[in-house]
Amino acid sequence: MKALSVLGSTGSIGTQTLEIVDEFPDRFKVVALTAGNNLDLLVEQICRHAPEAVALANAERVAQLRDRLQALEPDARPARLPELLGGPEGLEAAAAWSSADLVVTGIVGCAGLLPTLAAIRAGKDLALANKETLIAAGPVVLPELKKSGSRLLPADSEHSAIFQCLQGTPWADTARLSTGHPTPGLRRIQLTASGGAFRDWDPADLIKATVADATSHPNWSMGRKITVDSASLMNKGLEVIEAHYLFGLDYDHIEIVIHPQSIIHSMVELADSSVLAQLGWPNMKLPILYCLSWPQRLETPWRRLDLSEVGSLSFRKPDPARYPCMQLAYAAGRAGGTMPAVMNAANEQAVALFLEEQVHFLDIPTLIDGVCDRHRVDLRPDPSLDDVLAVDAWARTAVGEAAARLRARVPAGLPR
Ligand code: NAD
Ligand code: MG
Repeated sequence: MKALSVLGSTGSIGTQTLEIVDEFPDRFKVVALTAGNNLDLLVEQICRHAPEAVALANAERVAQLRDRLQALEPDARPARLPELLGGPEGLEAAAAWSSADLVVTGIVGCAGLLPTLAAIRAGKDLALANKETLIAAGPVVLPELKKSGSRLLPADSEHSAIFQCLQGTPWADTARLSTGHPTPGLRRIQLTASGGAFRDWDPADLIKATVADATSHPNWSMGRKITVDSASLMNKGLEVIEAHYLFGLDYDHIEIVIHPQSIIHSMVELADSSVLAQLGWPNMKLPILYCLSWPQRLETPWRRLDLSEVGSLSFRKPDPARYPCMQLAYAAGRAGGTMPAVMNAANEQAVALFLEEQVHFLDIPTLIDGVCDRHRVDLRPDPSLDDVLAVDAWARTAVGEAAARLRARVPAGLPR
């Protein structure tokens, strides 16, 4: 029985993790949950999974949660109410919960950084969905992993595919991911990308792109931020940096290929030129389950892949002009140090403003580029945690100010 702490339990990754726990009650149990604002769903999850601890990002809502739980009929609530925690310390305590064996990081954005570090420092293994943490703070996270011996198992579907393809090599048997050294025998990674919501749009029409357009993904059902990142291909750019930190390859050997069907989840080329791929329907439950069951594979009744039903698989190179965010991510990754943290925070802020209809979709890369450019002179090549947190806060403010200047300049009536 593996005990899980699920961070961001009310989100897309969190709810799918809990579905897996429901499907394998003899294998997995939940000992800690954390959530943002969705108290209705959180109360349901507490009743179903009876965790030992629950943390809310907003400490002020803990009393409300306690009232909600105490108001339940005795037969509807768990025999023992969980310990209720709140605020940043609460999230960190839930992430480091003593009875947890594995922590699933389903918080979105750099907000996941401190809880993830708390889990690593407590020696927990991690199922890493929250890629922003590794991207912003790779130089801080990697040494912490080495110190604690925690294993970072990739839940992102592309990185899970790579990890699965590398099973059987002496390297993968110990899950020695994130050592900062190239994985022996691994020559090239090809990350597949669906191309996102706008892959078939004429670039000239992107000026008309709305929030509703950008948040309807053709293949995957995910949270809003990552769905916008998929439309801009920033998600793939972030995944290039994630792959760099996980597998140690330099940026010249991590490539992106557009694969509209999302059946091949990524490919590795080995030293002898053999290429291995992992295939499946686009469904996050498989990569999450593999983190939970690794190194074993569990039997599932899930829909089996039928390539004759798929018909054909196609591939094309991404057009850099259509996807400027992809280029920005490569440049930030190559610059290293604090630059990926700046780029990630700028993207988070720009996407949040886009979702609030404060800026246009096409403003996102412009805002990120401007802030990364300003950071060049202040770049720290070997940042501390405090450096990462400081540049993250600076980049968010800088994007907010640049967006305000943009709004002042742009004539009213431009599609928003
Ligand atoms: P989501 O928006 O659906 O869920 C986010 C969760 O985090 C929610 O439980 C929310 O309450 C919580 N949260 C939000 N802001 C918070 C804060 N400031 N502090 C604490 N908790 C907070 O997001 P998601 O799609 O599940 O994505 C989660 C992470 O997983 C992201 O980093 C994303 O890139 C990654 N990921 C997601 C998918 C997917 O299919 N959804 C696939 C690959 C990777
Ligand atoms: Mg992915």
